Amino acid sequence: MPGKEVVILGSGDIGLIMARRMTLEGGAKVKVVAELMPYSGGLKRNIVQCLDDFEIPLKLSHTVIDIEGKHRVEAVTIAEVGPDRKPIPGTEERYTCDTLLLSCGLLPENELSKSAGVELSQVTSGPVVNDSLETSVDGIFACGNVLHVHDLVDFVSQEAAAAGKNAATYIKAGEKDVQAEMLPISPEGGVRYTVPSFVRPSEMEENLTVRFRVGDVFKNKAIALYFDDRLIGKKKRQVMAPGEMEQVILKKKKLEEYPETKKITIRIEEA
Ligand SMILES: Cc1cc2nc3c(=O)[nH]c(=O)nc-3n(C[C@H](O)[C@H](O)[C@H](O)COP(=O)(O)OP(=O)(O)OC[C@H]3O[C@@H](n4cnc5c(N)ncnc54)[C@H](O)[C@@H]3O)c2cc1C
Repeated sequence: MPGKEVVILGSGDIGLIMARRMTLEGGAKVKVVAELMPYSGGLKRNIVQCLDDFEIPLKLSHTVIDIEGKHRVEAVTIAEVGPDRKPIPGTEERYTCDTLLLSCGLLPENELSKSAGVELSQVTSGPVVNDSLETSVDGIFACGNVLHVHDLVDFVSQEAAAAGKNAATYIKAGEKDVQAEMLPISPEGGVRYTVPSFVRPSEMEENLTVRFRVGDVFKNKAIALYFDDRLIGKKKRQVMAPGEMEQVILKKKKLEEYPETKKITIRIEEA
């Protein structure tokens, strides 16, 4: 055990799971989980099962402003932050502790992607891919946490199966001799990114799962799908949060109905 009295910064799934694990494994006392944003980046069920069930407080819109101790941590001070994410004077709270656990976000591991020279997305930090999960480098496919960070392994498995199948098809087909038309998928109005970023209508599967994350908490809004300015579908959602991946199914048949389409847009709007 790295310590017995713990403060955690960051309430994504790993911060939440670590709060429970520290408590269960070694009887550590997790005094507080502080989160800079006004919402947790983790799954709702993890907030309930990892914090609420162990009466560990979650302080949203809070960050660490001071760490005391020379040879080891002795205390941590947290403070509330305003909408500008800067600490608000007078809101400081000091916690004596021997450990500060930092869990401030995950990024795809890019060692292999970078050395292969694939184009990376500025938003996900993972490769930019088309509908077959192929990167900008011919014959290199990406899936799982190297592509974008997943909270649920089931989606990783589905993506991996698709990438594997597409890679096998690529090998069997040999060199590509057609340059298929590529339609961009534009994330707008609260949608941070989509995977894939491009679709080839002539090559895509009948039903393509497009996964994405929103950039804020949205209540009673809808996910809207557009082909250019034409509304194709709308799905009402009670709650959407950055910690929970969302998806829409893109149908090849529907795209064939509108062959003039130049851009696909996914956005959050009024339900
Ligand atoms: C703490 C934690 C708890 C989680 N809990 C859950 C949960 O309860 N339920 C759930 O559904 N999901 C959970 N997830 C999410 C899920 O585990 C991940 O989304 C999933 O494991 C990602 O799978 P992956 O195959 O893409 O990556 P990984 O599982 O990370 O596998 C990547 C593998 O590649 C290897 N590797 C890296 N670089 C190289 C290289 N250069 N050469 C060779 N090999 C290399 C790594 O060593 C690793 O074995 C959790 C994730 C974390 C971090």
